[in-house]
This record gives sequence, structure tokens and C-alpha cells, in this order.
Amino acid sequence: MTRMLIIGPPGSGKGTQAERISERLGVVAISTGDIFRANVKGETPLGLEAKKFMDNGDFVPDSVTNKMVRDRLNESDVENGFLLDGYPRTTAQVDYLDEILADGDEKLDVVLQLTADDEELVHRLLGRAKETGRSDDNEAVIRHRLDLYHEQTEAVVAKYAERGILTKVDGIGPIDEVTDRVMQAIKAAQAA
Ligand code: AMP
Repeated sequence: MTRMLIIGPPGSGKGTQAERISERLGVVAISTGDIFRANVKGETPLGLEAKKFMDNGDFVPDSVTNKMVRDRLNESDVENGFLLDGYPRTTAQVDYLDEILADGDEKLDVVLQLTADDEELVHRLLGRAKETGRSDDNEAVIRHRLDLYHEQTEAVVAKYAERGILTKVDGIGPIDEVTDRVMQAIKAAQAA
């Protein structure tokens, strides 16, 4: 049973690593970005609301995001643990997640941060934009998303560091090597 978070700037490969961790640990990976994108595609009310923010690289408001995460964490496939990818991104979301977990008498085991420098990330994301045509992958929006990460999400990381459950992994390098580093870091954190 593992309950963990993966945090990293846009383009750090957290989605790819989250899928691999999920397979290896047998826990469900939940990506708030993926849930939003599925809703945008399906043109649901949630998707129509989220799209306005996502296209500009802004955070979807907490009122929308928090409820969505609470509902998702109440589903039955989460009973054996979970890996949250892309949430929490603000300190208010950290507080909200604390409440959800406290309600279920649960706590986080590991918070993994993937690190990479901004210029490398911009380069990667511009490459991804060409491949996938994601509407939030143009340079101005990419830089805005990185700014938000520094302004808001680094404070999230600091909170978990204070609690002693943060482990950092260098996200630069071949995908398999990063996965090896990630799995080692998780094992070490769980053994601690
Ligand atoms: P991601 O795939 O994690 O990069 O997320 C894509 C976009 O979805 C972000 O740029 C935000 O607009 C939105 N999003 C995802 N997770 C959150 C969150 N925890 N809080 C607010 N907005 C989010």
C-alpha cells in the first residue's frame, strides 16, 4: 500500500514516470491534468469550465479542482493506494488534501519531486507541442506555466520537505534511467 504524490514542473516527464510507478507498485495513477483533458474532449460542463484556464496556462480554480480530486479519491480503486500526479499545486490544495486524507484516517507515504532546469523544459515542451498539438504548449503559455510552478508549487514542495516526506529525483536523462532513479528513491523513502 503506497499513497504518494509526484510533483514536477511542466515537461519534467512526471506523467510518463507516474505511469511506470503505477505499474510497478500496483497503485492507480491519478493525473488531474488528464482528467481535465478528458473532460475538455468530452465537452462536459467541467471541461468547458476548465478549458478557459488551461488554454492560458493558468490553474483551474481550487473550487473546481478540489471537489474533482475528492470525488476521485472516493472511488473504490483507490483503496490499495494511489499516486497523484499534478495535485496539489498550491498550498491551499495541500491543506485540502490534508483534510481529505484525515477524513479517511490516511496519510501520505512519499512525495517525489522531479527536477529539471527551465531552459531544458521549454525545449522539451516546444518539441512536444509539435508532436501532440496540445493547446497549452506554445512558448508564452509554457513560460507562464513554469512561472506558476516556481511561484506556487515550490511552496508546496517546501511544505512536504518540512514534514520530512519529500524525496527529489533528477528528471534529466534517458527515460529508463530516470525511472531507475525514481524507483530507488521511492524504495529508500519507504525504508526510512
Ligand atoms: P498537467 O497535465 O499536469 O500539466 O496539467 C495541465 C493543466 O491542467 C494545467 O496547466 C492546469 O491548467 C490544469 N491543472 C492540472 N492540475 C491542476 C491543479 N492541481 N490545480 C489547478 N489546475 C490544474
